[in-house]
Amino acid sequence: MIFSYTMIKYRQMIIVSACLAGMNTRYDGTNCGHPEIIELVASGKAIPLCPEQLGGLPTPRPAISFVDGDGNELIKETIGVRAIGADGVDYSKNLINGAMETLRIARMFNIKKAIMKEGSPSCGVFRVWVNSRKVEGCGATTALLKKNTIMIEAME
Ligand code: SF4
Repeated sequence: MIFSYTMIKYRQMIIVSACLAGMNTRYDGTNCGHPEIIELVASGKAIPLCPEQLGGLPTPRPAISFVDGDGNELIKETIGVRAIGADGVDYSKNLINGAMETLRIARMFNIKKAIMKEGSPSCGVFRVWVNSRKVEGCGATTALLKKNTIMIEAME
């Protein structure tokens, strides 16, 4: 019994993008579940989080893309960089708040690694939409987690 408690206490959890775990958190209310990620969550090894929902956005919601910089620039609050929805609304604060909330939870669980959905303005790892083009760059949450030494893996 003591042994099992110790195993639970010290097991290293990871964070995964909620949509990769089969949750309908994407902007259009769908998911992009992968069996191996669903299994990680089901076996208690991963915590599914959606930074955009944590940042106060509803689902479904307008698709969001960057203007004049990626998530890294957004969290640095570089002048002119914004996250704009297909409805023309500025969602920069929501993306920043979602990134901060995800980091807060990561610290709570001593998370060292995350598997994030490629291409998203929050979770993207190598590519995001900037000025209507998919370019090299990362999402706001990925940028903040990386800055705090959390290792990130990308999944399409
Ligand atoms: S990519 Fe990230 S922000 Fe977008 S739905 Fe998935 S978990 Fe949420």
